Amino acid sequence: MVLKELTQAFGVSGYEKEVRDLIKNYIKDYADDIFVDAMGNLIVYKKGTGSNKKKIMLAAHMDEIGMQVTKIEDNGMIKVKSLGFLWTPITYMNRVKFRNGTIGIVSSTVMFENVKNDFTKLYVDIGAKSKEEALKYIKIGDIASYIGEFVELKNHNITAKALDDRIGCYVLIEALKKTEKPYNDCYFVFTVQEEVGCRGSIVSAERIKPDIGIAVDITPAHDYPCDLEGSNTVGAGTAIKISDPSVICDEYLISEMIKCCEEHNIKYQLDVIDKGGTDASSINRAYYGVKTAGVSTVLRYPHSPNAIANMNDIEASIDLLSRYVDISFKFEE
Ligand SMILES: [Zn+2]
Repeated sequence: MVLKELTQAFGVSGYEKEVRDLIKNYIKDYADDIFVDAMGNLIVYKKGTGSNKKKIMLAAHMDEIGMQVTKIEDNGMIKVKSLGFLWTPITYMNRVKFRNGTIGIVSSTVMFENVKNDFTKLYVDIGAKSKEEALKYIKIGDIASYIGEFVELKNHNITAKALDDRIGCYVLIEALKKTEKPYNDCYFVFTVQEEVGCRGSIVSAERIKPDIGIAVDITPAHDYPCDLEGSNTVGAGTAIKISDPSVICDEYLISEMIKCCEEHNIKYQLDVIDKGGTDASSINRAYYGVKTAGVSTVLRYPHSPNAIANMNDIEASIDLLSRYVDISFKFEE
């Protein structure tokens, strides 16, 4: 299964090659052109046929959050920093995997109650007895990610590591496959380094100069006891982004998305969040400004090894995007 394979691939921010190679292989027969830029963004072009066609950039990030080795102690314990935002309590006592397959357990240098959210208190234990032994497997700068097996849960829900944003990558792959002759020129972009500051999408938007940018990502759920306030619900359909702290989406693009969902009976929900962000923010501010929208899948327990999403929501996102690229957009002069 494509989504399962995508989640299990290793692709911490800045080290996305394995994910990129996998995606390249899935999409090679469906693209008019494929290009990898200097940062590692994978840009897949599909030529539009419309007389009033626009350039649409659809972006999903390949990277997942992870950690990078800063120091190896004399006793063989490995100190790390985070790449992207990791909650310390979620990381503590989890298994992590380095790129060469070495597995370690995360523990802390102080009583766990006193760790707070201080990542520098954590260390990784690979079972080595000394620095010398640890160095046989691990060196400074090596990276590790969570381990999180792909499992099907009840009611078409799934769990895995890296659902943020391999779901988005999967949605783009499937939308591309369904898009034989789109009305608009489409650039399906699999971006790098979103989790460390939306870096890949900046340069790809500058290169493509799209008329419309759509970030395809996950968005946090609000349907369980948590510290976030909002209406996002797992299983309630594809989430059309209205705003997050880093972007306010284009009203016209949103209204066309809602229209598209209603015409084709696609289940949708409106997504407003007050924490977090996506590639939408950087696409929006690239070039001389880009009209921006966002399509997300609602995710429970994001940035953890065991997030939960719903397959029906994912299918709804694919359905919406594969139809949206066929709209003849009329912008106000
Ligand atoms: Zn994301």
